Amino acid sequence: MAQTSHDASLDLTLDAAALTAQLVDFPSPSGDEKALADAIETALRRLPHLTVDRYGNNVVARTNLGRAERVILAGHIDTVPIADNVPSRLDEDGVLWGCGTCDMKSGVAVQLRIAQTVTEPNRDLTFVFYDNEEVAAHLNGLGHVAEAHPDWLAGDFAILLEPTDNQVEGGCQGTLRVLLKTKGTRAHSARAWMGSNAVHKAAPILAKLAAYEPRTPVVDGLRFHEGLNAVRVEGGVATNVIPDECTVVVNFRYAPDRTEDEAVAFVRDYFADCEIDEFVIDDHTGAARPGLDHPAAAAFMAAVGGEAKPKFGWTDVSRFSALGVPAVNYSPGNPLLAHKVDERVKASLIPEAEKRLSAWLTS
Ligand SMILES: [Zn+2]
Repeated sequence: MAQTSHDASLDLTLDAAALTAQLVDFPSPSGDEKALADAIETALRRLPHLTVDRYGNNVVARTNLGRAERVILAGHIDTVPIADNVPSRLDEDGVLWGCGTCDMKSGVAVQLRIAQTVTEPNRDLTFVFYDNEEVAAHLNGLGHVAEAHPDWLAGDFAILLEPTDNQVEGGCQGTLRVLLKTKGTRAHSARAWMGSNAVHKAAPILAKLAAYEPRTPVVDGLRFHEGLNAVRVEGGVATNVIPDECTVVVNFRYAPDRTEDEAVAFVRDYFADCEIDEFVIDDHTGAARPGLDHPAAAAFMAAVGGEAKPKFGWTDVSRFSALGVPAVNYSPGNPLLAHKVDERVKASLIPEAEKRLSAWLTS
């Protein structure tokens, strides 16, 4: 890991692109966010219009102006491991390079700039900065805050500043992973008729998967695109043995008009005519509706312009959705550049995002 020198404070008066560079030069791979959380907390405590709370390496700052609506701006402060791409570098074409430039310190910079500059917002504001988003779900700081202090996350509408190229991406698809296991009887392959082949027994499952036709429902005005796929097949004992077990690992990515229970029911039902010996739910995180029909969301869309798109991947908007807060993704990073060694962001898009959010929150 590149060891960088940084002074231990953040300057929220910098423009959003320069502040992004400062955040990137504050390395914070997952599990190592304390120094950055400290710096964010210190910077926010200097702002008299905010009350600041902290839980672990998660910082929540709020205005309390008694406005009719409350909007949440949330972002994770961790990055994937640094790949010799810190400190940041601004090139002659106005592109800022470095770990976290896209995912999602440019978004965090926008949050901090709004915190600094929008002192009398037309809606009450909650800023959430959390750790451990890029690792296992049980470590996720937003999840920890939701569990310990759900009142800190109360709101009418949330914007998660995950990379979207300054396009609004609404909701997210759910993801369900199931193990479909078939059982047979082991035997020497020279006397195959003494056994029964569990891999062959999985053939109808694969045939059903190959024949699957995705549903593309419109939910709250956005067209989603489901997917049902085998992502792994496990089976076989040795090259002279009839296998007695086979597992087809299936990933179902589903649109937010299904609940978690309905998603499981769909998969069970879809394979109902296959002979499956064991059906195991291996992993499951629900979908989130885009919530673009909410008045705050509609006003947000009008202010930022463009057309909303659906989010196909899973993001923490789903955690807000579970708390009853509709949420969208919006920030300057290009999602295709997230987690890459050559991660970068077009610097001019960062103050642009700030300007649009600020206009929505002050008009
Ligand atoms: Zn991210």
